[in-house]
Amino acid sequence: MKNVFAAVLLLCCAQISAQVIAVKAGKLVDPESGGVTINQVILIRDGKVEAVGEKLPIPASVHIIDLSSETVLPGLIDCHTHLADGAREDNADPAGIFRKTAAQYALESVPNAKATLESGFTTVRDVGTYRALTDVALRDAINNGYIVGPRMFVAGAYVTITGGAGADTGLSPDIQLPWDMHYGEANGPWEVRQVIRRLAHDGVDHIKILSSGAVLTHGSNPNSQEFTLEELQAAVDEASHFGLRVESHAHSPQGIKNAILAGVASVEHATMIDDEGIALAKQHGTYLDMDVYDEECIQEEGRKGQMPKDFLEHDAQLGQIQRDNFRKAVNAGVKLSFGTDAGVCPYGEAAKQFAMMVKYGMTPIQAIQAATINAADLLGKRELLGSLKPGKYADLVAVSGDPMADVSVLERVDLVMKQGKVYKQK
Ligand SMILES: [Zn+2]
Repeated sequence: MKNVFAAVLLLCCAQISAQVIAVKAGKLVDPESGGVTINQVILIRDGKVEAVGEKLPIPASVHIIDLSSETVLPGLIDCHTHLADGAREDNADPAGIFRKTAAQYALESVPNAKATLESGFTTVRDVGTYRALTDVALRDAINNGYIVGPRMFVAGAYVTITGGAGADTGLSPDIQLPWDMHYGEANGPWEVRQVIRRLAHDGVDHIKILSSGAVLTHGSNPNSQEFTLEELQAAVDEASHFGLRVESHAHSPQGIKNAILAGVASVEHATMIDDEGIALAKQHGTYLDMDVYDEECIQEEGRKGQMPKDFLEHDAQLGQIQRDNFRKAVNAGVKLSFGTDAGVCPYGEAAKQFAMMVKYGMTPIQAIQAATINAADLLGKRELLGSLKPGKYADLVAVSGDPMADVSVLERVDLVMKQGKVYKQK
């Protein structure tokens, strides 16, 4: 008798603890089919989609979120963010990094994470931080529910050559950097492998390497090539032993091609990609993750006198070249993901890139696919992210207006849900 009672008690409480939500979507964008359906019900149980359909019976007593007058889309994914670098306003000054501890950087990043989630980005691939592993701390704090933010997949540090695009440059050689400011520095295939082994041990989700110079780094030339093909191949091979994918920062044509030939999952920026590079990306199935919006922010900071002169010189011309090459890549049918370099522009403004992607050749649904199913594919998480299908996370956003007609409506999301929990509701 006692056992039966216990069983009944268990049954009752299992049912109560299962949180069931029904979302009524007036319109639902499906990035997989590229289509829009009307009057859909999305049934969510314990943070995952259980069923989607037009005439789904809604069980009694479930929590209903009525979005009948809205358009619902899967949660957006930004594949190129830097959330863990602290307060943005200090980033332009290379010596600014010495005025704070790593703990201060991590805590200053809390609002970055919140602004990102509340703007509709439920997942980010965060691609490097100048204080190693602050991104791991931020990811774990979000996952543990200590703070609010998107689901983060993090790189831990930049894997860079000495003095390279991911290094803290512009300082006197007298200065001895603390360990976490040169954690990812590596020269030669074996040092590259060693750094990746360390990062894997420290719990990163992917590896960020830099195969050309950078725009926003002192003493760097974006047209240069960094690492040899052999070193890049070592990175991809070593990362694969831990089930990790590699993304490579590259502006220069040869830096881009070396990264693709080495087998990276994506090339970041891909600014000066040439026709051969585009053909190679298509042949290898490599994603290009092109941040075609942030030029406006860099130049605006320049006008305000908040951007170092050498950064602005690097940037001159490159913005338009990248946008023209983005159009070429769209026309060639290369795989494209949505990545903004968030942190260059203020956090929470990433959705402004959608309109830019449409201006430079994408249809609205292609831009939405870049930030949903393509991004999920690049992360290797297609079974959990990128669309609202049974078994996937209940990550969704709602907007008023029609993003298929005007993609800029995504800049103003009315509701954000991550894993079945509402974080913003107008
Ligand atoms: Zn970046």
